[in-house]
Amino acid sequence: PTQSGSMESPRNTVAVVGGGLVGALASLYFAKRGWKVLVFEKRPDTRLPENQGFARGRSINLAISERGLSSLGRVDPDLESMVLDMSIPMHGRMIHSPTGHLESHPYSVFGEHINSVSRSDLNSLLLSKAEEYPDVDIYFNHSFTSADFDSNTLKFADRANNKEVTFTADLIIGADGHYSKVRQELQRKTMVNFQQEFIEHGYCELTMNPKNGKFAMDPNHLHIWPRKTFMLIALPNLSNSFTCTLFMPWRDFEKIKNDDDLMALFNTHFPDAVDLIGHDNLKKEYFSNPKGNLGYIKCKPYNYKGKVVILGDAAHCMVPFYGQGVNCGFQDVAALDEIMLSASNACNDSTSSMTSNQLQAALDEYSATRPKDAAAIVDMALEHYIEMRSDVSDFSYKLRKNLEGV
Ligand code: FAD
Repeated sequence: PTQSGSMESPRNTVAVVGGGLVGALASLYFAKRGWKVLVFEKRPDTRLPENQGFARGRSINLAISERGLSSLGRVDPDLESMVLDMSIPMHGRMIHSPTGHLESHPYSVFGEHINSVSRSDLNSLLLSKAEEYPDVDIYFNHSFTSADFDSNTLKFADRANNKEVTFTADLIIGADGHYSKVRQELQRKTMVNFQQEFIEHGYCELTMNPKNGKFAMDPNHLHIWPRKTFMLIALPNLSNSFTCTLFMPWRDFEKIKNDDDLMALFNTHFPDAVDLIGHDNLKKEYFSNPKGNLGYIKCKPYNYKGKVVILGDAAHCMVPFYGQGVNCGFQDVAALDEIMLSASNACNDSTSSMTSNQLQAALDEYSATRPKDAAAIVDMALEHYIEMRSDVSDFSYKLRKNLEGV
């Protein structure tokens, strides 16, 4: 069946592929600007209790900072405070030495901080806010398979009904993450310069449960156990737990074959964390939780004519050490909105009647300006891993930071 988007309507229709964090925010922005919005997400609706098992994304929680918060505030001033209300402020790093000694490194003398938020809570909030607009339809269990951009046509596998469905839309947003199928289609259609690299390190998440109902460590810090070639970090959750993430070279993960190997690593390098995570929990989670890969993607251009544009990880995946992947993806949406508003000559804050020429001008401009900024953050994120796992424990680093007054 072919289902038509805007063909009967004078307003433009946008098809957002991917209902993750960036796709959900993009939907909200386009709905606010008067578009008919169709969102396609391959997973089921993870807001429903029966689908919680599908909610897992690239990490359980994440740090959101000014770059992302201001992009939320641009579309809805209440959204920034709603997200802060469901976040825990982290005012600095807490460095754990191998002997268990703690040292706090504040991020700012002016009180600036980053915020730990649950990925699934944030995603649910953004999807629900988008759905408050009557012209937003979210199609869960719809996996994008292919597109003919010239005829504005997209095909999906409707997983719930086991059939292929076709939609049309004036504009296609690819917000389908690191392994973006929309980006692959874009690469077939136009000359996309593309660079991808996986780093030698992977990650595994572990839970540090509350102790007597309270946080087991100071909740207002991002905790780091820097060990030169590897590290453990922990971010707080509203449930008074922490999510710890072990970042380590794959060759070291491969050496851990049994409980004894695991306990030798943790007892030597993270003895205080062993007590807080708990021996049994550590063994159970380490061997059952997935291990994730880490890498980056740079590409350019991000668009094909005025028909399709990729945003978020689909366009510029980065390693997580600068805590900027989502923040940068949110900023993509705000930056595109700003460009579209000025390209549409809109006098009423609506971009939904943009002509195809105006759309092409806007996407060309976005694609000419945004990749440079994204590539800079991708590089900074790579550099920051060395700072986090190594430099923060060096005497020279501390001296420099003291001299800088931070
Ligand atoms: P995704 O979150 O990957 O969402 C893509 C969505 O598209 C998903 O819902 C997926 O199901 C859907 N999809 C995929 N393919 C299809 C298809 N064919 N059809 C339909 N739907 C599809 N960033 C930060 O800013 N701060 C942090 O602290 C932080 N910590 C991180 C920690 C780790 C360990 C990792 C790995 C990443 C971290 N990031 C962090 C980066 C962050 O996770 C990503 O930048 C972010 O998830 C990108 O959002 P996105 O919406 O572009 O992509």
